[in-house]
Amino acid sequence: MAAGRKNSADDDAHLWRQRYYTELEALERQLHESRSLQDALRRLSGRLCLAAQGQSGALDGLLDETLVALRDQQPVGTLEQLIQHLSKAIERLDTAPPGPDPVTIKDASNDTALFGARRILIELIDQLHFDGDDKARAGQLRVQLHEVRDAAQLHRLMTALGDLVQQRHRRMSELAGNLRALIRRISTRLTDVTDHLAREDQARQDSASNSSNLNAHIQDQLRDLTRRSREATDLISLQQVVEQQISRVDEHLMTFRERERELAAAYRERADLLKERIGELENAMRQERERALTDVLTGIPNRAAYQQAAPVFIKGSRRAGRSLCLALWDIDHFKAINDVHGHHTGDRAITLVARYIYKAMGDKTFTARIGGEEFVSLIPDIAGDALAERLEPIRAGVSALKLEAGAAVVCLSVSCGAIEFHASDDLDSAYQRADTALYEAKRAGRNRIQVIR
Ligand code: GH3
Ligand code: MG
Ligand code: MG
Repeated sequence: MAAGRKNSADDDAHLWRQRYYTELEALERQLHESRSLQDALRRLSGRLCLAAQGQSGALDGLLDETLVALRDQQPVGTLEQLIQHLSKAIERLDTAPPGPDPVTIKDASNDTALFGARRILIELIDQLHFDGDDKARAGQLRVQLHEVRDAAQLHRLMTALGDLVQQRHRRMSELAGNLRALIRRISTRLTDVTDHLAREDQARQDSASNSSNLNAHIQDQLRDLTRRSREATDLISLQQVVEQQISRVDEHLMTFRERERELAAAYRERADLLKERIGELENAMRQERERALTDVLTGIPNRAAYQQAAPVFIKGSRRAGRSLCLALWDIDHFKAINDVHGHHTGDRAITLVARYIYKAMGDKTFTARIGGEEFVSLIPDIAGDALAERLEPIRAGVSALKLEAGAAVVCLSVSCGAIEFHASDDLDSAYQRADTALYEAKRAGRNRIQVIR
């Protein structure tokens, strides 16, 4: 569709550009003709004067022939030939005895040569098709020519006619110059427009409607221009039409660029907003992810977080060739706390112990709540032999915690079963052995650490 629009715009542009070139060519031809005519006229002027002065019937034939050539709109070349014949005839006259002084001719209407010269000049004026002010001046000359009585008068009028032709020639040169400059300007604009149309297909989607608006405007202008340039009857009005259309196309281009700038600004604004929104979403997602991995009651990592972290710890330790231990914690006689002090106090007890162990294990370890009152810790860089020593202070710390429940103070303790990962262990087998160790700690009386191999 864009290509179709572009073609029709191109056709229009081509049509009226062609029209201009045709006009310019015609003008150039006219200019050339006018230049030759001017020279011919100048020479004709001298010869005719001489012929008129000679008052010889011998020239009548040549003068008549010149007249016919002018009437038939013969090209300048034919006129030139006749002028040469005239010159020769006059040369012959020069050698003959002189006639009466031209200034003394009283009745020119009786003088065949002067009469013939006058007719030729009148014919010449008619054929030069003067227009505007020149037309009026040429009309005056024509009237004056009818009243010519002697060769001197005729000479003056011919000089005046020569000036008029020269003046017309100058104006035509000027017009041709303007026309050439105008065509250059149009070509530049057309290149702009054509470039724009070529880029249109790659234009952003946002500006698509803006682009097609501009194209529609430009096409309208071109169509209008084509129609009006066909109707324009002379170069001046044609030039005005084109100048007008060019400034309209300019206006549309300016509106288009302004709109493009607005669209770009709006686009940037939307992009900024979108960036902000994406940031918010990323934050929300991060928070959501943290929430999903955090135990709601205690605020420490939950079972899902443990399942995610454990493989990372195992892989990391194995790659570094370092040891990794696993400890299971279980609050002792917790059911009794619930039963005696209520569920709420039970929750507070779980929270207190969870946060204590979490904090006491410290950096580089991982602790999570994996069940009711059960917790797990992953402890890297410690061998099984040193494990009991590492965990003992934590156990002691929990047993020193004081949880107030009304007037009572609830005593808390934990049992812990711990193991060091074997090379052959996966997470399940390691957990299983730690659970066995915990069972043993319970069986051995609770509030103690049990490490097994
Ligand atoms: P042991 O010393 O052998 O571990 O005895 P215990 O009473 O702790 O035994 P057990 O592990 O069987 O009891 C755990 C109880 O914890 C059972 C359950 O009702 C309670 N419980 C589980 N989750 C929660 C919880 O989120 N809040 C509270 N208040 N109680 C819970
Ligand atoms: Mg339990
Ligand atoms: Mg328990």
